[in-house]
Formats: sequence, structure tokens, C-alpha cells
Amino acid sequence: MFDYRNIQLQNITPTWLPGTIQAAMLRLDLLHSEVSGNKWFKLQCNIAAAKADGKDHIVTFGGAYSNHLAATAAACRLLGMRCTAVVRGEAAPMLSHTLALAKQQGMQLHFVTREVYKQKDSIDWKEVFQDAYFVPEGGHNAAGAEGCEEILSMHDVSGFTHIICAVGTGTTLAGLINSAEPPQQLKGYVVLKGAHYLSEEVKALLKYRSAPQWELVHEHHGGGYAKVTPALTECMNHFYNETKIPLDVVYTGKLVQGFKKDIESGIYPPGSRVLLIHSGGLQGNLSLKPGLLHY
Ligand SMILES: *Cc1c(COP(=O)(O)O)cnc(C)c1O
Repeated sequence: MFDYRNIQLQNITPTWLPGTIQAAMLRLDLLHSEVSGNKWFKLQCNIAAAKADGKDHIVTFGGAYSNHLAATAAACRLLGMRCTAVVRGEAAPMLSHTLALAKQQGMQLHFVTREVYKQKDSIDWKEVFQDAYFVPEGGHNAAGAEGCEEILSMHDVSGFTHIICAVGTGTTLAGLINSAEPPQQLKGYVVLKGAHYLSEEVKALLKYRSAPQWELVHEHHGGGYAKVTPALTECMNHFYNETKIPLDVVYTGKLVQGFKKDIESGIYPPGSRVLLIHSGGLQGNLSLKPGLLHY
């Protein structure tokens, strides 16, 4: 359904990167205009499981700006499957850009209050949506992580010493850890403030006892989830001018901003070859105030 050759491996040489360190970006954002980035990889095994189960209706969960809902809506339309989103919060008079597009693609929107949403894991949704296949919020399950194992097979990435990505639920990072080669080190840049539960969540998705070295970086959430500061947008605009690579404000912008800070603090030793995963998410930028980003 998708042409994986669209996913480029692009060397990057921003001015703040010392000559002793190499870096490249794996452009999952180029996979497809709507089903871009890591969300397709998290969905693929879930959708296969739904089909194997004879189900053609996907029900999943998320907020009004969710990249996961955007990707699920687009993927289900391309695959001719039905899909429903249980959306956190009452329907606003104006749908968010993300939800408007999802609805246009045929996704049914089932709004629930924040209180109900908080209890969603103890609700028997099978009673509400019969014969549906359920994908958790953010595609966070073992099938999601399994699908992400394919990410590192898009190109020969065996020469990289470090593989780094943005972390929301940790599903993508877990898939990368399960498919990286032992001498490689993985770092997940966490975009939520104080999300220390994440190490357990990642561990729960690991398949092999002798995993490569990995760690979560908690210092670069930039004020917390989806917080947009002038320093962040300046970093992203500057990065775009130098590399022509667009970043999103929630995940990949924070990844590059954090990586830059870690480079400046000497966290990466000379000789490092760092692979940054561009996990997509650019649709989220459409909800920003116009003019913040120069692309
Ligand atoms: C959802 C998302 C992430 C987070 O992925 P997890 O597997 O939940 O950690 C990272 N980057 C982008 C662009 C995303 O949309």
C-alpha cells in the first residue's frame, strides 16, 4: 500500500554539529502525505491482526490533536476499513484541524467527557462497538512495537553508534530496541514532563533479555507536552533553513532541540554516528498560529 522507498536516509550537517560527529535522519515523514511517520508502523500489525480476526472496523482512542487518530483515519480509508475514534473531551463548536480531516476521511467521532475518557480502560467498549478491533491510544501495544521493528530495515543503519527518537508512549522506542544491533545505543527523548513511568512501559514491550543499551532522556521536554516556546520554534526554523527538513512542534522539534543541547554539553563523544528518527507528525503543525514556522 505504501512505497517504502519514499523513506530517505538523509545526512544532516547543521552548523551546531561538530565535524567529529556524524548525524543522519531517517525520514519516516516522507512515507505518505497523510499516513506519515511512526504511526503507520505502529498500526500495521494491529490492522493485520484485525483482518486475521475477520474484523473490518477499527476503534481507537485519542485527543483532538492526535497524530494517531489522523494516521488511523487515513490508513483505514486507504484500506477500505471502517474506523471510529473515541475522542477525549466534548465536541467543540469547531472541530480541530486533525478531527475535521479525520471525519472527512470517514472516521466516526465518538466524543466522551474527560472524566469518562480517564476511565476508558475499565469500560467494556465491546458492548458499545460490537465486532470491532480495538487499538489502544497512541497505538501503544505489543503489536504496535512489533510493527516498529521494521523501521530500521528501511536502510542499512548498521554503521550508526546511536539511534535516537522522540518518546510519547515509548512504543516506537521499544520496537527500535528490539531490532537494533547490540553495540548500538538507543536514546528516547521524552516529550512529557516527569513521565518516569515510561521506563516500565518500555521494558514491558522488550522481547529479548540481552537488549542493546537504551535510556530515556527526561531533560528536554521543553516545558511539557505540546508546550511551544519561542526557543523551540527558533530551533526548528533554523534547522529547516540548514537542512530543508520540516519538524513538528510536539515530537521531532523537541528531539532535535534536545539533541542539539546534548551535543553542546558534550554528551555524544567524538566519533559518534547518530541516527535521528523523523517520526512524522507534521499534520500537527497545521493547528499552530500562522507564521510561527517558516515552512
Ligand atoms: C506519536 C508520535 C511519537 C511518539 O511515539 P511513541 O511510540 O508513542 O513513543 C513520536 N513522534 C511523532 C511525530 C508522533 O506522532
